[in-house]
Amino acid sequence: MSDTLTKAISKDGFFKITAVVSTETVNQAQKLHQTAPTASAALGRLLTAGLMMADELKEESASLTLQLRGDGPLGILAAVADAKGGVKGYVAHPEADLPLKENGKLDVGTGVGKGFLSVIRDLKMKEPYIGQVPIQTGEIGDDLAYYFMQSEQVPSVVGLGVLVDRDYSISSAGGFLIQVMPGCDERSLTKLENSLQGLMSVTEMLSQGMNGEDIIKYLMLGFETEILKTVPVAYRCDCGRERMERAIVSLGRKEIQGIIDEQGEAEIVCQFCNKGYLFERDALCTMLERATRE
Ligand SMILES: [Zn+2]
Repeated sequence: MSDTLTKAISKDGFFKITAVVSTETVNQAQKLHQTAPTASAALGRLLTAGLMMADELKEESASLTLQLRGDGPLGILAAVADAKGGVKGYVAHPEADLPLKENGKLDVGTGVGKGFLSVIRDLKMKEPYIGQVPIQTGEIGDDLAYYFMQSEQVPSVVGLGVLVDRDYSISSAGGFLIQVMPGCDERSLTKLENSLQGLMSVTEMLSQGMNGEDIIKYLMLGFETEILKTVPVAYRCDCGRERMERAIVSLGRKEIQGIIDEQGEAEIVCQFCNKGYLFERDALCTMLERATRE
């Protein structure tokens, strides 16, 4: 079954709800980066959150980047999502794995550590919009809820879950985001809080075979909701030879000359999909000329 993003609003207009099933997306990331379980959970949660947040982008070519710069053993994590349901990401130390927490869950918080969460919205106009908050627990869902409140003044409930199988493949992954719209009254808020009491975890919901629509109905028990759309989502890398060439050209004349003299050729590996691009001497010389001119 392919991955999906489902969006809904409550009929009173007070809540906007997004649910994502991202099992295949996270499986793809696990295979590409050979992540150990803690890294799979951390990267999977970040990719899922990226998909939910990027869906808000209006511009076709716009992108949203979530970056975690913590001091934990996982190192830097990033997810880059577009408005068309594509997401890609990486973790600096995919091999990092930690002992399970006392409750038997993967210890993503310790893996991420303390530091900063950045949200970068590149709308392909002027400068990108960047918001940054200190990492709270490193569990990612909590950190995003904190970000929404601090940086965007939108009270939000964020749920993210990745269940890793014994063979390191991903049994299920997904998430939800409930955002409170301006003008929401106390009564509706209390009703939502009650509805969210004793909630199953996202992976439990998925293990029961729930799809995005089911998850939204389950979360918003007692509310009338309207499903606005369900769209496919997937792990997608948009790298290519031209993009890599631009990256080399941007290094500048001195750097490129250095590569030609010392190595004679250059191999660049995409950090999102590990695809390698080899540039031989001739190609590098052409780029050297371009760098001179630019
Ligand atoms: Zn790539």
